[in-house]
Amino acid sequence: MDLHTRFNQSEENGARYPNERRNFEDKAEVEEPAPATVDDLLLAHSREYVEFVKRQTNLGYGFLDSGDTPATKGLFEGSCSVVGGSILGARKVFDGECTHAFNVGGGLHHAKSTAASGFCVFNDIAVAARWLQKNRGVRKIAVIDIDGHHGDGTQSIFYNEPLLKISFHRIGIFPQTGYIDEIGDGEGQGYSVNIPLGGSTGDEAVLYAYGEIVPPLLRWYKPEIVFFVCGIDGHQGDPLADLSLTSRTYLAVAESLHELTHELCGGKLLLLGAGGYLLDVTARCWALIFSAISQTRPQLKDTDLPDKDVTEKSQNMARIKDTVEEIRQTIFKMHNLL
Ligand SMILES: [Zn+2]
Ligand SMILES: [Zn+2]
Repeated sequence: MDLHTRFNQSEENGARYPNERRNFEDKAEVEEPAPATVDDLLLAHSREYVEFVKRQTNLGYGFLDSGDTPATKGLFEGSCSVVGGSILGARKVFDGECTHAFNVGGGLHHAKSTAASGFCVFNDIAVAARWLQKNRGVRKIAVIDIDGHHGDGTQSIFYNEPLLKISFHRIGIFPQTGYIDEIGDGEGQGYSVNIPLGGSTGDEAVLYAYGEIVPPLLRWYKPEIVFFVCGIDGHQGDPLADLSLTSRTYLAVAESLHELTHELCGGKLLLLGAGGYLLDVTARCWALIFSAISQTRPQLKDTDLPDKDVTEKSQNMARIKDTVEEIRQTIFKMHNLL
């Protein structure tokens, strides 16, 4: 039986759900991570930036960037705790202490090596990946990011490295990057894969692009571990990145990545929460994802799902087919996959 582990970020959450282990048929455990150390942060961030975050959070006011990421008291410690959760999850999954892990507070994909951005202070994805590279000699880490925004921080930190990054995101909104021609540089050429999506893209088009791009690239890359950045802000009605997705997309991608990781790397799958600004919808979609990968999927009626209109049809199939073809002609060709 798989041992599936999820990580909580606070004692409060642990206290609120004392029966969680029982709810997941003894397949899941909740763990309290040790905070990341400064040395951990330095794996992906400059010392100047780490000191800056410390200073600003001690002040307790103002912003770390131009206005999205406030510098509140305790932010440094809280951010270290988030990063610690992702390191712990990555380590336990890679070492085989559990098959999958979920850090719902993680996935802070906008943070750069020297700057905060878009509510993200430290890039836990990058720190956890660097931690595995340094301490376990891992070479092939794949990051699949379906948050509604481009994973620009992760891309920039690994832009010159052969670490596979695939990001599905709404184009033309924050952070204004993630175009199809951002494919990586030097040894990283062909390892940044961007699937830019228009507004109201919908399940059908996103799942088509996912199916055409992700399974073939993962089978070619043969990852040793997969990070799944599962932000829910592409859900229909999300105020930040409406892609008109329903829970079907999140569930289908989670089930597919679960199968692919079992096929390719012994199931080594680390899930990181990322964004989502309709809180009830986000919580329910994460619960669905968690149920899918722990194979404790509940029996659900359509009315239990957090979707307004499950018959919504994609308006963007023609456009997405062009996008997929362009990726095949660039990335796939580069790796001799055509
Ligand atoms: Zn987002
Ligand atoms: Zn599994």
